[in-house]
Amino acid sequence: MLRFALLLSLAPPALAAPDAPAPILTTPEAVDVLTYAQPQVARVTHVDLDLAVDFAAHVVRGTAALDILAAPGAREIVLDDRKLAVARITDAAGHPLRFTVGPDDPEKGASLTVQIGDARRIVVTYASDPHANAFAWLTPAQTAGKAKPYLFSQGESILNRSWIPTQDSPGIRQSWSATITVPADLTAVMSAARLTPEGEPAGPGQRRFRFAMDRNVPPYLIALAVGGIGFAAIDHRTGVYTEPASLARDCAELADTGRMVDAAEALYGPYRWGRYDVLVLPPSFPFGGMENPTLTFATPTIITGDRSNVDVIAHELAHSWSGNLVTNATWADSWLNEGFTTYFENRIDEALYGRERAAVLADLLWDDLQRELKESAPAATRLHGDATGGGAVDYTKGATFLRTVEYTVGRARWDAYLRGYFDRHAFAPQTTAGFLADLRANLIRGDKDLEAKLQLDRWAYEPGLPDNAVHVKSATLAAIDATLGRLAAGAPAASVDTARWSTQEWIRFLNGLPRQLPAARLAELDATLHLSVSPNPYIRSAWAVLAIGNRYDPAVPGIEAFLPSVGRGLLIRPVYAALKAQGDWGMPIARRVYPRARSGYHPVIVAGLDRVLGPPE
Ligand SMILES: [Zn+2]
Repeated sequence: MLRFALLLSLAPPALAAPDAPAPILTTPEAVDVLTYAQPQVARVTHVDLDLAVDFAAHVVRGTAALDILAAPGAREIVLDDRKLAVARITDAAGHPLRFTVGPDDPEKGASLTVQIGDARRIVVTYASDPHANAFAWLTPAQTAGKAKPYLFSQGESILNRSWIPTQDSPGIRQSWSATITVPADLTAVMSAARLTPEGEPAGPGQRRFRFAMDRNVPPYLIALAVGGIGFAAIDHRTGVYTEPASLARDCAELADTGRMVDAAEALYGPYRWGRYDVLVLPPSFPFGGMENPTLTFATPTIITGDRSNVDVIAHELAHSWSGNLVTNATWADSWLNEGFTTYFENRIDEALYGRERAAVLADLLWDDLQRELKESAPAATRLHGDATGGGAVDYTKGATFLRTVEYTVGRARWDAYLRGYFDRHAFAPQTTAGFLADLRANLIRGDKDLEAKLQLDRWAYEPGLPDNAVHVKSATLAAIDATLGRLAAGAPAASVDTARWSTQEWIRFLNGLPRQLPAARLAELDATLHLSVSPNPYIRSAWAVLAIGNRYDPAVPGIEAFLPSVGRGLLIRPVYAALKAQGDWGMPIARRVYPRARSGYHPVIVAGLDRVLGPPE
């Protein structure tokens, strides 16, 4: 924290010297098949970007200077590349270096092999492709302010190779710095110390922003956003970046962010990233949030006016430990990022909002887990996944695993262990095998009864759910279930008191209604509970799925208004899937709305929806 504060006071700021190179893992299960890099031969230790953002061409162009650590005698380095237009590569003195681009793989992109000779710093001059899949380019109409264009990046899991020529593997940590030049009326922010918050003049009509991340991070955590962006502080180390028109509203919703950081530190040790700010993005952001260091990227769909979705912020903040500090070495172990974080997030929620609130969230998660186990092929329900990614259950089964360990050994002992775990593996990659070894060495310590009780290998490597799994039950959700029971027995919708419901109670209620309902009942529910016009996108999404399943025509205008307004996969994917399931009734609606909505969605969402619906003609 102090380090970043000092940097901010320097003018012009000096870029921080990188830490010593981070460790890499070389055990077989730590080999990342989604990178072309051969880190034992030569690896990138620092990336320095100098890029200009061209909103007309939808590209960034400039240079990436890479510092390299190479084994004795190594003469080449292999980078990851997805459709980059590489003009030239030189050594630090400007002498050209030979390079070759391998065949393009639809999933991995291409290798970029550079003959470095003795060079240990190289400079790549390049531009991104206009369809770089890390980027969403938004027109002014697709922003809240409607006046300025917007660009944001999403790196996880292997998208950053579409705009940064580096070794794009979570096990190859790098420090980085960047200078980003943008049109003068726009602001650039990145997931690093923001050295020039107001920018500096950089030629006619341009401004330049500088950033430095002096910690070694997995390169998927390098993130950029450019647009009409304002800032307001929450406390001394937390704040909100968002479009100026949304500042007051977003700040009020996220007012607990500083307390969340305090609570997280009290649980599992110091927050090691300086500032913790939240960037609230335009509606097309594809996820709930992305844990970019120092600057969580968040969907505006969590801004519901009642703080009932700030668990998303608790989640992204928790990633500052699980994911950003201790990182899955390969995506096959992504439960180490997501399961740990989903567990940790719930502990932050409990610290701020009490046991029952945490129980609501954990109980809903249990529902999700049960559904995922039912819907997934058994192989996809293993925590240690296949080569290319974790299974469907990274979040839910992973969190349940850790909760089960907590309940088995007791909270005090578990918390002490986990705090030590984050210290022991800080700024390093981790594997499932490595975690289990650490758990055995530092928690179980040869206790055979405990080892048998925990069933660690079943949890980590086998499908399904071991029989010691802990299910936390919520009284609040039980009350919703009782309400559903009364409705099923014929009670009128007007008898339901929704006045103090959180989003989670709404979700439980809407998803708990019978899937088949007469039109008259749907009309009564909509008229009484104002579902079709709810400002809460979670309610709109759950209502749309129910209405579509019943081919309920009066809901269609509301659904057609909702789908282009939100780009978050969690909320729109189920609606499109429901339309598709209703074939001759649903597909005409999907074909009408999707082409209109598609340009506002991020490429990762478009790719999935194109597969489901077929690309528009
Ligand atoms: Zn996450």
